[in-house]
Amino acid sequence: GRSKLPNVGTTIFTTVGILAKQHRAIDLSQGFPNFEADPRLFELVNKVMHEGYNQYAPMQGDYSLRETIANKIEKLHGTVYHPEMEITVTVGATQAIFTAIAAFISPGDEVIILKPAYDCYEPAIELNGGIPVPIQMGLNDYAIDWDALKNAITPKTKMLVLNTPHNPSGKVFSKNELQKLETILEPTDIIVVSDEVYEHIVFDENEHISLSQIEGLANRSFICASFGKTFHVTGWKVGYCAAPSELMKEFRKVHQFAVFCVDHPTQKAMNTYLQDESLYLGLKSFYQKKRDFFLNALNSSRFTYSPCEGTYFQLLNYSQITNENDEAFARRLIIEFGIACIPISSFNLNRRQDGVLRFCFAKKNETLEKAAEILCGL
Ligand code: PMP
Ligand code: GLN
Repeated sequence: GRSKLPNVGTTIFTTVGILAKQHRAIDLSQGFPNFEADPRLFELVNKVMHEGYNQYAPMQGDYSLRETIANKIEKLHGTVYHPEMEITVTVGATQAIFTAIAAFISPGDEVIILKPAYDCYEPAIELNGGIPVPIQMGLNDYAIDWDALKNAITPKTKMLVLNTPHNPSGKVFSKNELQKLETILEPTDIIVVSDEVYEHIVFDENEHISLSQIEGLANRSFICASFGKTFHVTGWKVGYCAAPSELMKEFRKVHQFAVFCVDHPTQKAMNTYLQDESLYLGLKSFYQKKRDFFLNALNSSRFTYSPCEGTYFQLLNYSQITNENDEAFARRLIIEFGIACIPISSFNLNRRQDGVLRFCFAKKNETLEKAAEILCGL
């Protein structure tokens, strides 16, 4: 046939979202907040629109925003990216990831992916003729099998995609793990796409280590981030990526023809908003309270879990409740019990992983409370 992606259907987030609406279910499926963002941010967008920032932004992104991003990265991670050559503003992290893949992957190139994985990586690889090479993370602890990773590297391996904090498991990669990766990649020229959209959402004693902090990874990585996650505006679709200039040069060759530039007023507003670092540094404690609230409310349920280390997703194991497969159970939860979540085999194309569902806790406490009440009754 003519399809370039014959095995791809409609994403799980769209199909579950529609089913949840049809059945008026409490929706803890797709990752987005159901509370409003800071009204000051809306005022900032309104203000810059009236100031006339309504035409094309620079192709690479508003320069002052790129400077602010560079300062933020340097302050948090000690790494210097030059705003002119090494930072590009993108239509969310999705476009950053897609563009990095499109810029470097040619037919036959292999790309290593750690599974379960967020769903946008593999189609982007396949569209460019690349071959996704899945490495399964540990089934309960999401540990990395370093030997498997090492053995997966061939002369055709062009890229590796890493996501920390990790969606859907909530795993946060430690410095030690990233240094292991650095050592394994050292003899290769594999490029890394580092999906760090949940960089500010980490809990307990966990710390987000950006790949930009690890020298042997920073010099081969695209660091992809999203303001949607950080400022509770997933619908605005603004993000950015940072990479050494020789990688960014190729990235921009694709970016300029795929989108040219990103929404101008939003970029201007984000630049002002980002000046107050407490707005993103406070995100951890904000979401830790939500995670703890949700988990406390699940105390009397039959679900089992380890509290997530980061992201706004919590995996719940339901094997004490039913032995149905996760897709069937997730469907029944919507239709019969009025609660929506994501079955995690959707992140696993290559194998089923029954018994585990993903719940988004970026929701009002009243929503989490109602959800927990239903879940405790199962
Ligand atoms: N990567 C991961 C791991 C995500 O969970 C998401 C979105 N929720 C994205 C990328 C996409 O981010 P954006 O909405 O900024 O495109
Ligand atoms: N990243 C969000 C999630 O994991 C979904 C974004 C999307 O729908 N593509 O729920």
